Order: sequence, then structure tokens, then C-alpha cells
Amino acid sequence: MALVWFTDFSASPEMSLLEKFRALLREAGLPQIFRAGQLVAVKLHFGELGNLAYLRPNYVRVAVEELQRLGAKPFLTDANTLYTGTRSNAVDHLLTAAANGFVLEVVGAPVIIADGLRGTDEVEIPVDGVYVKRAKIGAAVALADALLVLTHFKGHEQVGFGGAIKNLGMGCASRAGKLQQHSTSKPKPDKDACTSCGVCARFCPVDAITVVEYAVIDYARCQGCGQCVAVCQFGAMGPGDEAAVEVLAGKIAEYAKAAWNGRPALFVSFINHVSPDCDCWGMNRPPVAPDIGILASTDPVALDQACMDLVLQAVGHDPFLRAHPEARWEEQLAHAERIGLGSRSYELRRLLTGLDRRKS
Ligand code: SF4
Ligand code: SF4
Repeated sequence: MALVWFTDFSASPEMSLLEKFRALLREAGLPQIFRAGQLVAVKLHFGELGNLAYLRPNYVRVAVEELQRLGAKPFLTDANTLYTGTRSNAVDHLLTAAANGFVLEVVGAPVIIADGLRGTDEVEIPVDGVYVKRAKIGAAVALADALLVLTHFKGHEQVGFGGAIKNLGMGCASRAGKLQQHSTSKPKPDKDACTSCGVCARFCPVDAITVVEYAVIDYARCQGCGQCVAVCQFGAMGPGDEAAVEVLAGKIAEYAKAAWNGRPALFVSFINHVSPDCDCWGMNRPPVAPDIGILASTDPVALDQACMDLVLQAVGHDPFLRAHPEARWEEQLAHAERIGLGSRSYELRRLLTGLDRRKS
């Protein structure tokens, strides 16, 4: 049975929330998991511009300090998005991260976009999954020595919730990797949105694209690699048909296994500002659950299950299913456990600070 550490959001003049978070990281084993000299990918979501529910940089700085205290070399990272928003290439992504407070001066570590300038810097990692055989993972994540995965737990419009599994699986995938998860068919150009810039044709590995007035794909040649979707900055290369919920959830879990790839890792989730939708939206709707606490585990499946159980207990109904009835969140957890990513059985252990002892 996996161990999940938990602390609530109560604080005192003697112990701020930041110090409680530091104590949680230590209790959950951070000093034993990470080593001096390791390049540690601190994976998080910097928040779309206009969204205010993402993880506060103040917490991230504490995590960075704890890793640096051990002599490790942490860097903050996320991979570019598939859709054209404010994080679909490294320039926009870094500017968005900076606007949301993720800069060296605040967090104490550099920001490196995992899949590079156009979302094409990837490493293919074999994974013997039901849906995925080779996962395309952002190079900076794939090449790191260890992972610290910091997650804002929230709802998600397609797979019900966004927790540690999704932060790993979808969040670490390159743009082509994201396409592989979302889509079940080859890309479809949109001639009205196409500016005929020709970039997709330049990046197509099999010369399947011709651009005259707009881009046209020769499907007899196309291998469905997704590079054209990844490099189009005008949203004119559509990702094809959306995968069904169980397929998307299954692919996310299998990508999570590839992104982790057996390296030393700690997973931490924050249940606060629980918006019904992903932080990829440039806004956030009102929370659907109270601020509950911070959890940490070496098992991402146990961590997500514990977060979900705490939310359901606190709310008294299923706020995620109510917000998105088609997005059955059980699929992610069930498939993740099936493929050996972790266990849905866990022991929740409360962090006992002086403050918690006085309360109990
Ligand atoms: S990259 Fe996009 S906008 Fe440019 S030619 Fe290709 S589909 Fe059209
Ligand atoms: S999916 Fe890959 S092979 Fe097919 S047209 Fe796009 S870049 Fe070329």
C-alpha cells in the first residue's frame, strides 16, 4: 500500500504555509530521493495567461531551495501546448511563465521549455502500452536525472481531472506527443486559417505537404507523425479526430509511465483553487471544492486517488462529473493502476507539526 503524506492549509505565526510545505517535502522523503549533482526537472504548469488558479511560485521556490540544499541542480520545466494559446512555442511560453512569476529571481532556478523552440525537441521512449508503443517526451524532461512533479489538482474538461498522472503524461509530451494522445487520425489542414507560410512543409519528414494557396496533405505519404500540427503557429493544421475518453485517459497513463521512466521522483499535489477546468484556459471559473491541503507521495496513482477521495469527502458529491458529465475520471486511475504506474490503495499520513499537534 502506498504512503501519501498530507498537510492542511492551517498556519500560525510560528509556522507559515511555506514552512509547512518544506516540512512536508522532508517528511515525504525528498532528502533521500534526490542527490548532489543531479539535474532535476521540476515539472509544473506555468498557467495560461489570464488564468489565476495555477500553483503559486512561492511554493516552487521552497522546493527549489530544498533541492539546492542537497547539491542538486533543479530547473523548472513544462512542454509546449498543442493548441495555439500563450504557451505553444518557447518564446510565448517563457514570456507567459515570466508574467505569472516563474523567473529566476523569484523561484531561484532557470526555466527550460522541455520540447524547445517549436515543440519538436523530443526523445522517443519505448513503452509497452495498450495504446502507445513509443512516447514522444520533451527532451529536457527525458534527459533529466530525476523528477519533482508539482501539480495543481483541478477538474479537466476531457478526462475529468488533472492531477499528477496528467501533469506527467500530457504535460511532459512534446507537441507531436500531445497530438498522438488527443487524436486517432491524421492531421487535417484548415484552408481558411492557413497563411501559406510553408513552415509545415519544411518540417514534414516525408515531403507530404504542398503549399500553394494553402497547405494540402498527400495522405498516401503522410505517416501521421504530427510535426506539421506541432509547428503550425496559426492553428491551421487540425489534429484530426478526438480520441474517446477511455482512449485519451489510457494514452495519458501510458505516456506518464514513459515520462517517469523509472527515475527517482517525488510527486506533490496542491488541492486549492479547484477550478472545474484545466489551467490551460486563459481564465478560471469559481472553485468547485474548498482548499483542502498539500499531498506528497512517491506513487502518482495513490496521490491522485487520495486527492480525489479528499475532494469527494469535502464536497459531498462529485463536482468533476457534475461539471463535465462525459469526462469519466475513473478511466485515468484504472488504466494507470492496470499498467503498473502505481496503486490506488494508499495510507494517508498526516504531517504532525507543532500546530497540528495542538489542534488534535
Ligand atoms: S504551417 Fe500552418 S499556416 Fe503555415 S502553411 Fe502550414 S498549415 Fe498553413
Ligand atoms: S503528420 Fe507528419 S508526415 Fe503527415 S503531413 Fe504532417 S508532418 Fe508530414
